[in-house]
Amino acid sequence: MDGKALAERVRKDVAEEVASLGRPVGLATVLVGDDPASGVYVRSKQKACREVGIEPFDHNLSSETGQDDLLALVEQLNGDEAVTGILVQLPLPEQIDEDRIIRSIKPIKDVDGFHPFNAGHLLQGSPTFVAATPAGIMEILREYKVDLKGARAVVIGRSNIVGKPMALLLLAEHATVTICHTRTRDLPAVVREADVVVAAVGHPQTVTADMVREGATVVDVGINRTDDGLVGDVAQDVREKAGLLTPVPGGVGPMTIASLLRNTVRAARYQSGELAFPLD
Ligand code: NAD
Repeated sequence: MDGKALAERVRKDVAEEVASLGRPVGLATVLVGDDPASGVYVRSKQKACREVGIEPFDHNLSSETGQDDLLALVEQLNGDEAVTGILVQLPLPEQIDEDRIIRSIKPIKDVDGFHPFNAGHLLQGSPTFVAATPAGIMEILREYKVDLKGARAVVIGRSNIVGKPMALLLLAEHATVTICHTRTRDLPAVVREADVVVAAVGHPQTVTADMVREGATVVDVGINRTDDGLVGDVAQDVREKAGLLTPVPGGVGPMTIASLLRNTVRAARYQSGELAFPLD
């Protein structure tokens, strides 16, 4: 499943939507510290913004930044009308309480969808901002007409960023969903039951061909830097078994960025009142 090609189409749609809004849209990105991978992600998000007419506001803070300073910056961005969406790149240095920072972002600007307000709306079946990675995966599955109704779906990974929202989105499409994690007994046996497998683990070769049912749809979320370069969580030999598979790179990654752009335009529509944001 070609996430790169789909993402290009989504970005074109978003560019047209931004132009038709007739008012500026801006995304503030906040990067704390100098983690190289986080730096790459933030820069590619900023570049994608520019390409669709969203203005990126770059905030780069030192790794020594204290929690109060970061809270003050988020507060300033919350009140800045030029800033439509706020993205604080995770992970944050250990002196900072990540959950506290996520909660400080005004829900109507929380384009990552990590604030409990937005995560809670997804849980209750009335989504507002949905985390970009699982939202992008759902778009890939729709594009390739993967039948989810009644399907057995197995999500490996239970993070708030990928695994949990992914499971909720599959559930909303009427899949029968199992979430696996480090304490799951006999992961291969559980995965073998699946029509749809989403691997969001962060370890290469977590899913191997012997674990995959013939013809299953396999989504590889993993980004692992190894001596052989960038690899996902799914072993190469799964290609022979899977009916559909997302490559790494060129699968989930580009759609994550495209979904973030979509969320940022959605934020602009919420803020103008064109879409109702459920605050009451
Ligand atoms: P995380 O570390 O927060 O969560 C990993 C999850 O995997 C945990 O819930 C853990 O229980 C589970 N897990 C770990 N080892 C396991 C094992 N052996 N068996 C079963 N479960 C196991 O990571 P995350 O933020 O959810 O990200 C997961 C992966 O996806 C990472 O490689 C990350 O880089 C990648 N990612 C990619 C994108 C993208 O755009 N492509 C976006 C976000 C994350």
